[in-house]
Amino acid sequence: MRAGEKVREFYEALLAAWGPQGWWPAETPLEVCVGAILTQNTAWRNVERAIENLKAAGALQVPALWALPEQELAELIRPAGYFNVKAGRLRNFLRLVVEEYDGSLEQLFELPTERLREAVLAVRGIGRETADSIVLYAAQRPVFVVDAYTLRLAFRHGIVDLDADYETLQEAFAGSVEKDVAVWQEYHALLVRAGKLHCKKQAPVCAGCPLQKFLEEGEPREPF
Ligand code: SF4
Repeated sequence: MRAGEKVREFYEALLAAWGPQGWWPAETPLEVCVGAILTQNTAWRNVERAIENLKAAGALQVPALWALPEQELAELIRPAGYFNVKAGRLRNFLRLVVEEYDGSLEQLFELPTERLREAVLAVRGIGRETADSIVLYAAQRPVFVVDAYTLRLAFRHGIVDLDADYETLQEAFAGSVEKDVAVWQEYHALLVRAGKLHCKKQAPVCAGCPLQKFLEEGEPREPF
């Protein structure tokens, strides 16, 4: 089976096995942005606790969040870990919104997709995966989000090599699946679930994985 065909079939198989994942779990686009920045290097339940703190403080709106002194912001997001660094990153993102887009996320999100991606990516401390998560889930634009889970899984199925860079990996998926925001949102969520449950870093747990039937010669490509 060719790589593009695999990528298309994976989506159908994962969706059939697990159904819609309900991503991104957030009430507003700003909450998506905050969650995407806070989730780096930490479990999602810790992000939820940080977001709860922000909500309880009435700070989950651009003006209120921007008005918080950095130290206070850091305390509120402490459960998310690396809280001083992440407070700085959040403020860097907010600075873009406040100083260049009149404090309006909607205005920022009116940019054409590629320019929007570049603007978010230019924020200090925001990497490709975070920027693309914001563009896909908060701005609802078609940018395929890839991550370490995606690389592992794609490598083990012979879709990309292990040294594939972010763009190569992204293109392997974006170029093979219908360009549809809802589909791309769902696909990324399903890949994360597959990575967490089965395609683990140390060793893949192929038994029971919805993608097991796609393994060539019944074995994942190794060594990872
Ligand atoms: S766990 Fe095995 S079957 Fe599942 S995605 Fe990874 S390599 Fe493929």
